[in-house]
Amino acid sequence: MTAASILRCYTHPACIGHEPGATHAEQPARLKAVTGALREAFPLLPWCEAPRATRGQLLRVHDDALLALVLDTQPDRAMSLDPDTVLAPGSAEAALRAAGAGVAAVDAVLSGQTRRAFCAVRPPGHHATATVAMGFCLFNNIAVAAAHACDKHGLARVAVIDFDVHHGNGTQAIFDTDPRVLYLSSHQLPLYPDTGHANERGVGNIVNAPLPPGTGGEGFRKVWRERLLPVLESFRPQLVLVSAGFDAHRLDPLAQLQLEADDYHWLTTELVASARRHAGGRLVSMLEGGYDLTALAQSSVAHVTALLDD
Ligand SMILES: [Zn+2]
Repeated sequence: MTAASILRCYTHPACIGHEPGATHAEQPARLKAVTGALREAFPLLPWCEAPRATRGQLLRVHDDALLALVLDTQPDRAMSLDPDTVLAPGSAEAALRAAGAGVAAVDAVLSGQTRRAFCAVRPPGHHATATVAMGFCLFNNIAVAAAHACDKHGLARVAVIDFDVHHGNGTQAIFDTDPRVLYLSSHQLPLYPDTGHANERGVGNIVNAPLPPGTGGEGFRKVWRERLLPVLESFRPQLVLVSAGFDAHRLDPLAQLQLEADDYHWLTTELVASARRHAGGRLVSMLEGGYDLTALAQSSVAHVTALLDD
């Protein structure tokens, strides 16, 4: 197979236009670092323009009031929704494109146009709950994608893998009574948002592996190898979705895990192998966090290198 039929990337210029402020960690330069590094490392990789998510696609996981807040406020300057989360003039369009990327990627992968997809988008999504935008996140992009796979395509087993250094409280809360979706997360604890304890199990479809500050690649690989990947294996996912945050890297300023880019390559290789065994190789990954631009560039290249491996 050619690279183009194995992996495609989704992004949109509007995702640069979400401007939470010059001192905010979740800055437009993050996305430029990711797309620049990927275009340089993989010049033949096909890039697709992310469509807007529809209101109907968003309403599968969010309530009307959150849609109204994000889409209809139309602020003429940046406004804070909470101490971390900003709605600025370009934010609604960015949020629509970020969520729409995941929907389009799921459609492309499930229709066989490509085997895997990486969505280089922002704002990130995994903290947004059904009703609340929080933690830099407006809409929960990976949850919108998972719900689309279940509701539109009728899948009964969708796995969401979240290796961002923060726990994806929003994704967990959206699916914690929905056995069609398995949510597996490694994250630092204690750390924002202080959820993701091992005793949070949903209806048996949630598995959290909190890691203490200072944990490095060895400890990270151990929890995935011994605790999380065996759960993925017995779930037999029909589709693997990935919340790909790269803020567990040792250079990241927002947390204290000590991963290297090679650790992301290792886990991604394991996820691709699982997708190949159970899901026809089908995997959609979406960018979440990652706040050191050098680490973000190196880690996303390591991640995509593994996604391309066939
Ligand atoms: Zn994060």
